[in-house]
Amino acid sequence: SDIDFGAFRDAALARRLIDSIHAMAGDRQINLMEVCGTHTVSIGRYGFRSIMPAGVHLLSGPGCPVCVTSNRDIDHAIALSRLDGVVIATFGDMVRVPGSTTSLSRQKAAGRDVRIVYSPLDAVELAQANPHLQVIFMGVGFETTTPAIAATILDAHDRGIENFSVFCAHKTTPPALRAIASDPQTRIDGFILPGHVSTITGVETYRFLVDEFSTPGVVTGFEPVDVLEGIAMLVRMVAEGAPDIQNAYRRGVNQGGNAVARQLVQQVFEPVDATWRGLGAIPASGLRIRDEFAHLDASRRFDVDIEPTREAAGCRCGDVLRGVITPGGCPLFGRTCTPEKPVGPCMVSSEGSCAAYYRYREA
Ligand code: SF4
Repeated sequence: SDIDFGAFRDAALARRLIDSIHAMAGDRQINLMEVCGTHTVSIGRYGFRSIMPAGVHLLSGPGCPVCVTSNRDIDHAIALSRLDGVVIATFGDMVRVPGSTTSLSRQKAAGRDVRIVYSPLDAVELAQANPHLQVIFMGVGFETTTPAIAATILDAHDRGIENFSVFCAHKTTPPALRAIASDPQTRIDGFILPGHVSTITGVETYRFLVDEFSTPGVVTGFEPVDVLEGIAMLVRMVAEGAPDIQNAYRRGVNQGGNAVARQLVQQVFEPVDATWRGLGAIPASGLRIRDEFAHLDASRRFDVDIEPTREAAGCRCGDVLRGVITPGGCPLFGRTCTPEKPVGPCMVSSEGSCAAYYRYREA
């Protein structure tokens, strides 16, 4: 292959891992799914798809939080933004994602108060600096981001901040993996499990993949050799027919995860059924703010009419997020849909598969 080994921190190790992946895979057909947007970007940046054996396919999963947010949730946030005296504060990518007929950034252009923040704490500060406004933080993200939201909600509760609330579109990873593993249209032979999420969840939470689906998983980091090592471990388990859940990221992830952070999340949130783009409704895959903190829950505090949901014509983000197609399989990819003029969220978000494939010319 024409891979530039100079790009790796440890070129000799990278070469050995690639050779062993080829040797172990032989001519087997093996579908591996990375379920973290940061892995998608890493795999794209280092061109790993092009150096895999012909039968080893690296598919991207539902790891981009902005991408899996349903149009219904985006429309709900947009409806909230139309209330007088309300500020919607959220992450930059979320602002640009189109809902059924508009986006938060278009609402902002039309005069609504939508602001980009980098953390929920910024939103609280915004609320304190503007006591005459109602600041609603739209939270998206997985296990890595929810502890900070939980801490913010507790803090706002304790300090009695009355003009702050959270519109919670947070999701949890294991139920989505169960949905994908159960999907007859997607045949995944192994999961590259998310490094950051696992720092919170720990490793054993993924054991059901082996017990229920005989599918292996490896938690891995984001350096090139981390990703290659994870792939090598998965290919070995597939080839040997010995599925297991393993941790290739011991420097970052404890077997047991972070119990303190999980406890914090549990104190503030309870599991609720949630709708994911592409995957549909998944039982207990979302987080709802507990009744005790209902006054900080924007969806209960403000009653709004949400427009009827419409999906962008031709956008196949949902199939991309399920691993049914790669972005190149979408007829709009690189034609009518580009990062400058994105049709769907998978092209908007920097962690979205379509954006990553486009950036690294992988389609
Ligand atoms: Fe949707 Fe664009 Fe990706 Fe096609 S290329 S699936 S239209 S985001």
